[in-house]
Amino acid sequence: MSAAHAVPLSTALLIDGELVAGEGLAEVIFNPATGEVLTQIAEASSEQTERAILAAHRAFAGWARTTPQQRSNILLAIADAMATHADTLARLESLNCGKPLHLAQQDDLPAAIDVFRFFAGAVRCQTGQLAGEYLPGYTSMVRRDPLGVVASIAPWNYPIMMAAWKIAPALAAGNTLVFKPSEHTPLSILALAPVLATLLPPGVLNIVCGGGERVGSHLVSHPKVRMVSLTGDIVTGQKILQAASKTVKRTHLELGGKAPVIVCNDADLQAVVEGVRSYGYYNAGQDCTAACRIYAQAGIHDRLVAELGAAVGSLRFAGKRDADNEIGPLISIRQRDRVASFVERALSQPHIERITGAAVHSGPGYYYQPTLLAGCKQSDEIVQREVFGPVVTVTRFDELTQAVDWANDSEYGLASSVWTRDLDKAMQIAARLQYGCTWINSHFMLVSEMPHGGLKRSGYGKDLSSDSLQDYSVVRHIMARHGEHLS
Ligand code: NAD
Repeated sequence: MSAAHAVPLSTALLIDGELVAGEGLAEVIFNPATGEVLTQIAEASSEQTERAILAAHRAFAGWARTTPQQRSNILLAIADAMATHADTLARLESLNCGKPLHLAQQDDLPAAIDVFRFFAGAVRCQTGQLAGEYLPGYTSMVRRDPLGVVASIAPWNYPIMMAAWKIAPALAAGNTLVFKPSEHTPLSILALAPVLATLLPPGVLNIVCGGGERVGSHLVSHPKVRMVSLTGDIVTGQKILQAASKTVKRTHLELGGKAPVIVCNDADLQAVVEGVRSYGYYNAGQDCTAACRIYAQAGIHDRLVAELGAAVGSLRFAGKRDADNEIGPLISIRQRDRVASFVERALSQPHIERITGAAVHSGPGYYYQPTLLAGCKQSDEIVQREVFGPVVTVTRFDELTQAVDWANDSEYGLASSVWTRDLDKAMQIAARLQYGCTWINSHFMLVSEMPHGGLKRSGYGKDLSSDSLQDYSVVRHIMARHGEHLS
């Protein structure tokens, strides 16, 4: 246990309204910025996971019958409690992910709190088809009802934000949940668990920690779980689909990404450089929307590579003063080594040029130098596969149609951007891109009101926005027979 942090660490799971110690295997929790051990958390045993599912199942009938206003008030109370404890939660997020504290304070926490506030409002003003007499003598109406127990399984890159994205819409829609954080990053949601236990009826939200192959797969294969929501790797998504097929569960998958960034000759070079410096490397590139796959038109290519190389080389990290750091480390040694091996393989190709970075940072923590590689070809592994680290590639193109074809020539379909001063051109390109989101002269910006989610192997299902409420509910038709002539 580290002495270097002042924040108390909660390690208790939340099952049926009670805070209980896990009875399964112990998972060591590290601070990736230093490599020090923060604590150990015992995961849920199989019996505890079962209890959590059954508690959620029992709680469902009552929670599903609460009014939108009642659920909204609870979501607002959760948001208020998160705001009260924002500093502690940000500190835990920073400790557990290694990310700079000031970024967790200014980005992760406000965004997570806003998600609860958004869904508190959205659930009270949903819209739908009109009731009416579509058959003489019958009145039809449409309801949106919750599904039952939802198992929500989260990744490690933005733990508290991912928890908010999963918990808020599912609860708002009237479902009960068993939430499993990543085994690497449970600290912030466990710190919130005591507050959640006081605000929600027992069983409505359960939090179990543990490995994907044990606790995760138990949740996914359980017949009482009606829906599985995953943000994670494509391979994990495939396993979940297979397991969920046995009991025909609804699935909501947010998988990886490899965002193309099309830079046209007439783009504002300074804006592109600043944009990619920020959003190609934010969170050390551990972001499924990271601006990591640049297609630069021939007329701007050389200047872009030169200026971006200098800008990326100036990114600050691993400094002693938190405020000086712009990015953090990778989440684990394994992830850092995975990033390093992608870059090594790329640089073993003679046509790929290292512009900056391309090495493990010497010193404590799991840092990898922000890296820019130029001369990359469309067929290169580094262009095709998600690295999930601070690595951006540049590929030169001549014709816009070629850039659009290459951008779409990907197994991923989550996020993309186009940079040009010509809005006409931007709109034409945006209309042709096969991505869940396309930014114009920007990248990375998310708002609670707008849907986030992918196409192709990036998965399906929308987070954020009222589309997410639809994903966590089911449409039902109620038809009443009555007379046709009022006497
Ligand atoms: P991961 O797939 O390894 O783990 C995600 C979660 O799934 C963890 O909680 C893990 O315990 C669980 N899990 C693993 N195997 C399981 C199984 N067989 N059954 C049930 N649960 C299982 O992903 P990660 O390494 O934590 O996160 C990185 C990945 O997530 C990247 O590929 C990234 O692109 C993706 N991601 C996607 C989005 C998005 O919005 N599309 C957002 C963030 C991260």
